[in-house]
Amino acid sequence: MSEDTVRKTTCYMCACRCGIDVHVRDGKVRYIEGNRDHPVNRGVLCAKGSAGIMQQYSPARLTGPLKRVGARGEGKFEPISWDEALELATSWLGEVRHTDPRKLAFFTGRDQSQSLTGWWAQQFGTPNFAAHGGFCSVNMATAGIYTFGGAFWEFGAPDWERTELFMLFGVAEDHDSNPIKLGLSRLKARGVKTIAVNPVRTGYNAVADDWVGITPGTDGLFVASLIHELLHAGRVDVDYLIRYTNAPWLVIDNPGEADHGLFARDDDGQPLVCDRTSGDVVPAATPGVRPTLKNAVTLADGRRAAPVFELMAHAYLDAGYAPAATAEATGVAADRTKAIAAQLAEAAFEKEIVLKRPWTDMKGERHETMIGRPVAFHAMRGISAHSNGFQTCRLIHLLQIMLGSIDVPGGYRFKPPYPRPVAAQPRPHGKESCADSPLSGPHLGFPEGPQDLQLAPDGVTPVRLDKAFSWEAPLSAHGLMHMVIANAHARDPYGIDVLFMYMANMAWNSSMNTSGTMKMLADTDENGEYVIPKIIYSDAYSSEMVAYADLVLPDTTYLERHDAISLLDRPISEPEALCDAIRWPVLEPDRDVRGFQSVLLDLGARLGLPGMVDDDGQAKYRDYADYIVNHERKPGVGPLAGWRGEDATGVGRGSPNPEQLERYIANGGFFREHIPEEALYYKHANQAWQDFAVARGLQDKPVENVFQLYVEPLRKFQLAAEGFGELQPPDHLRARLRDHLTPLPRWYPPLEETLIDQADYPLHAITQRPAAMYHSWGSQNAWLRQIHGENALYVPEDIAAEAGLQDGDWAWVTSPHGRIRVPVKRMAAVNGRTLWTWNAIGKRPGAWSLSPGAPEATKGFLLNHLIGELLPPRGDGRRWSNSDPVTGQAAWFDLRVRIEKADTGGATVEPHFPTQASPVPPPPKNVTWGKEWSG
Ligand code: SF4
Repeated sequence: MSEDTVRKTTCYMCACRCGIDVHVRDGKVRYIEGNRDHPVNRGVLCAKGSAGIMQQYSPARLTGPLKRVGARGEGKFEPISWDEALELATSWLGEVRHTDPRKLAFFTGRDQSQSLTGWWAQQFGTPNFAAHGGFCSVNMATAGIYTFGGAFWEFGAPDWERTELFMLFGVAEDHDSNPIKLGLSRLKARGVKTIAVNPVRTGYNAVADDWVGITPGTDGLFVASLIHELLHAGRVDVDYLIRYTNAPWLVIDNPGEADHGLFARDDDGQPLVCDRTSGDVVPAATPGVRPTLKNAVTLADGRRAAPVFELMAHAYLDAGYAPAATAEATGVAADRTKAIAAQLAEAAFEKEIVLKRPWTDMKGERHETMIGRPVAFHAMRGISAHSNGFQTCRLIHLLQIMLGSIDVPGGYRFKPPYPRPVAAQPRPHGKESCADSPLSGPHLGFPEGPQDLQLAPDGVTPVRLDKAFSWEAPLSAHGLMHMVIANAHARDPYGIDVLFMYMANMAWNSSMNTSGTMKMLADTDENGEYVIPKIIYSDAYSSEMVAYADLVLPDTTYLERHDAISLLDRPISEPEALCDAIRWPVLEPDRDVRGFQSVLLDLGARLGLPGMVDDDGQAKYRDYADYIVNHERKPGVGPLAGWRGEDATGVGRGSPNPEQLERYIANGGFFREHIPEEALYYKHANQAWQDFAVARGLQDKPVENVFQLYVEPLRKFQLAAEGFGELQPPDHLRARLRDHLTPLPRWYPPLEETLIDQADYPLHAITQRPAAMYHSWGSQNAWLRQIHGENALYVPEDIAAEAGLQDGDWAWVTSPHGRIRVPVKRMAAVNGRTLWTWNAIGKRPGAWSLSPGAPEATKGFLLNHLIGELLPPRGDGRRWSNSDPVTGQAAWFDLRVRIEKADTGGATVEPHFPTQASPVPPPPKNVTWGKEWSG
């Protein structure tokens, strides 16, 4: 009998990127286990990861390039060769590039190669590129970067070994799966308390010691109440605020003038503070200064100014944030809010950690110890997916910072390459787009004021199709993918010629207004031509979106291709180590498919894109593997940090090493370098960290990172809205900018509920990702669909009783946007005003190689049909996207509904759609695996 070969690569059954050992025998996967040496999972493998076998042998895998022959959405295709497919794509894309590159919209879903895809789009010259962040969790990333140069998940992690109190906000099994499970188990072993704030008590929230079943969209109000309590009690780390934040910086108080609300600065632009000993106003960086946090001062020119902290005290000691005042809206009783505030203070200050670990700050001051405030937070989608998510997340960060718990022992810890504040981030590009030219920089970045918006010469019209970086969504650092199809269909701000998407199931679970989106994709104009003329789509599986493509470029599975889990992209570092990883083909494809990234480079070469062809016009990279090894984003810095240079000793910097991938494979598929001990905490102000980061190519030079409690760029947008400055927003957006882009975060109600009659729609409705599945990939997996083949709508007991609903009944759920009929179950462990269900279980009949009568198609459903990509009409004739007004984040969780029992038991969910023809060979009656090894 033949033996197993163990091949170590990176899991892709969710976004955590755990290390896996794939046991292969006779060219087939025998089983998968966790890689014990891997920094992310240390040997732990979840159910999804084990079920990667069934992803590999899924009947839904596309088998070769396809050209549409039926109508859009029908799913009828003819097979074509790769040559024909690539020639067709090149002709479509080439025509656009030669005329108007804006007419290409290139958007990718949950892929992990955005440093490549973004670079490709930049070389193509279209301004219309982003990945899925705009409908995922851009609020988290943006609020974090603007506040302290980091964020949750990929940018940082709790100090699991030292924290004494852990709080989760809005976290289901999304994004951070095995690492959170590992962390929670360590907390349990140490007896550390976890408090979970979430409307639904499942998963991590179910094993937490304390569950706060908050009303959706009110987390910011709850956190502001905690801040109110801490300020009231004087339980704030004043020394930390003075040393590491802009709390002492003076803010000009000059109402009605162009400088009102900006920082007072000296002639060199340095922010000013008031020394509490001398009373002098001096630059914040003055050696030996002891700035005051209180009281307004008069500047030398006679203007008044007050420290940021004074403004914070005024804002958050407001009676409206008192626990008694917020209790009704949040559903959290005042004494509970007070108790949690007291617990936070107790953990931070009474359980202070003192590590005898000398370090030197960026001002040259030597410290003999590292002081820890052992309170750690983690937050995700439940915070992010609201139209007030940016400011809510800012409030969470303010709370962390006031407790002194960012990058200290026991607190939140940065993961390399972070921290990376706005000053070290790029600005957005795109307005320079013109025929046959690349853009001058990356699409996505962090504006510092209106001057960085991507607007047409009129200063108003968005340059981008999704209207990112416009007055409608100024800080949209990840774009607004959820608006791409709707805007292309409305030709607002313009129509496009080619929609090119990768791994984004926009015709189903990745779109708001799913029914409407399907219609838009298939809609024709007065000439009978498709309104979106050409659609190119790449995926490994026959998702619902495939049926809407004109040209399908079939991707490989994650076990059949190369990938770089890159520090240039979405890294997997740990707080104590710089890490990156690869995927490599542990199996050969048995179909006529190609890795999308290799196909993209091939297209780039055929189009002659700069950087993708050599001086003779020949393809510069053979494939993605060749690119991973040889591409240099700047001299010596490429996709992978490990084993660089001729002698393979370079880390982060060094010439390309032809043996690099072999070195990764020999090391288990990843690279890790531990951070020097002196640089392990206080990275935002730690000289040893700065030296390490520069040496490893993470940044070009030391970057000062003063935490921004008060975000001045937001104030600059407000000033524009008040009429100051050359660039002026259109009048209809002035109030929106003024009210939502506040430099200190404030809570405001989710936008949708301000536009509807709440008596008509008294309930909230949200989705959560189950532990066993990750979006649509998992719910066609033969093993995982046995766990979740259908989903019910969970209804709080009181609401169910009121509506006369029992388990197994069916109900109509109605929102301002639509109506669905679904099966229900009663549930006690949920906020009393909230309905919820698992995400992305429902499937369209015929898709994913499932039979049309599969439970996913008859009893599985999406809430998406209830959610508009536009807000309810305001009567002004304008299209207002259902997004956070700061970042453009899709506000999935703002949904309001009512529920009624369905008169007749439904055999199927509504809406129910016509069956799509399957573009893949008919599946076997039973999907089996492993018989060949069963003796
Ligand atoms: S947590 Fe995600 S990446 Fe890790 S094993 Fe599970 S599915 Fe794979």
